[in-house]
Amino acid sequence: MKRAAHALPEALARLEAARLTRRRTTVEGFADAHSRAHVRVGGRTLIDFSSNDYLGLARHPQLAAAMSESARAAGAGSAASHLLAGHGTEHERLEEELAAFTGRERALLFSTGYMANLAVIATLTGRGERILLDRLSHASLIDGAQLAGADLKRYPHADAEAAARALAEDPERTALIGTDGVFSMDGDLAPLPALSRAARRADAWLVVDDAHGLGVVGATGRGTLEECGMSAADVPVLIGTLGKAFGSFGAFVAGEAALIEYLIQRARSYIYTTALPQPVAAATRKALELVQAEDWRRTRLAALVERFRRHATEVRLPLGASRTPIQPVVLGSEAAVLAAQRELEAEGLKVAAIRPPTVPKGSARLRVTLTAAHTEGEIDQLAEALGRCCARPGAPDGA
Ligand SMILES: *Cc1c(COP(=O)(O)O)cnc(C)c1O
Repeated sequence: MKRAAHALPEALARLEAARLTRRRTTVEGFADAHSRAHVRVGGRTLIDFSSNDYLGLARHPQLAAAMSESARAAGAGSAASHLLAGHGTEHERLEEELAAFTGRERALLFSTGYMANLAVIATLTGRGERILLDRLSHASLIDGAQLAGADLKRYPHADAEAAARALAEDPERTALIGTDGVFSMDGDLAPLPALSRAARRADAWLVVDDAHGLGVVGATGRGTLEECGMSAADVPVLIGTLGKAFGSFGAFVAGEAALIEYLIQRARSYIYTTALPQPVAAATRKALELVQAEDWRRTRLAALVERFRRHATEVRLPLGASRTPIQPVVLGSEAAVLAAQRELEAEGLKVAAIRPPTVPKGSARLRVTLTAAHTEGEIDQLAEALGRCCARPGAPDGA
C-alpha cells in the first residue's frame, strides 16, 4: 500500500509528459440571466462550446422554479433508496411521463446514465454470455460489460455486419448488442435498422443508449429511434440521460413492464443507492414538457449546426460526418488539440480538448458542441477562429 502510494507522483508525471493530464476549469458564474452559453472563468467571460446543454434548458427559470417548489415541499434529499422510503410522487410521475414520451410500457429512473448502463448490461447478461459493443461506445457501457463478467467483443465502429457475423459464430449463447444512439465524441448515428435486424435474427438483446439523441434528434425530439424510424419492438431496451438536452440530471431505462420490474428486483446500481432528489425529478418533468412544447429549440439548433458546417467547410476545417450538435474537429495529436484549445480560449471561446483514453489513440480532437442558446454571430466567430488555428492548408473544399 505504502509503495503504491509512492508510485502516484511518478504516474502523474508520466501523464503530464504524455500531455494526458486533465484539468478542471471552475465556472464562476454566468453572464446572462437564463442561459449558460456565456460562462465566467478566471474573471473572463467565455462563449461555451463544451456543454451538452443542447436545447439551452439548464438555466431555464421554469426548471429552477419547479426545483425550488419541490424542494420546499419534499426537501433536498430523498433520505433512502427507491425500494425503502425514497420513492416519491415526482419520481412516479416522471417515470410515467418518460414511458409515454418514449412510447413504452414503463420507465425506471436512475441517478445517472453511468449507473443505468451498469444496471442494464450487468443485469441482462452474465458469465458465459456474450456482449457486443460498438468500438466507440461510451465508457459506461464498457464498464457494464466488465461488471457483467460476460465475454465482451467490440465490433468496428457502426459496422452492423460485423456485429451480425459475431452473433452468427456462436448462435447458442445468450447475447446482447449495445450501442450509443448518437456517438458522444463523434456525433454520428448508430446504424439502428441493421443492428435491430441482426439482433432479431440471433434472438439477442439490443440496448441503445441515446444520451445525446433524446430531445435533440428526430422530428419531435424522440431521439435516434425516431430519426431512424424504429419502434419499441425494434429496440427493446432504451436508455436516456436527463443531464444533457433535458438540462437537469439523472437517467432512465424504458421498455416492457417485465424488463423494468426485473431491473427493480435485480439491478444493483438501482437497489443499493439513494433515490435521486425529488426536486431534480420535478425540474426534469418541466424540461420534458418544454422539450415537447417548444419545437423551435430543435429547429434553431439544427439551423445553427448547418450554419457551422457550411462555414467550417469554407475555412477548410477537418469536419466529421456528424449532423448533430456534436461537431468533432479531429487534429490527431495531444499537443495539437491543447495548443488549439489555448488559442481559442485567448479569443474568448471555450472548447473541449478530448484525448485518449476517451477517444482512440491518434484521434485527439476538439469536441465542439452547439446549443440553441448560441447566436448566429457566435457560430461564425467560432468557425473563423477554428479556421485560423486548425484548418488543413492543402485540403480541397469540403474535405
Ligand atoms: C453522458 C453519457 C452517459 C452518462 O450519463 P450521466 O447521466 O452523465 O452519468 C452515458 N452514455 C452516454 C453515451 C453519455 O454520453
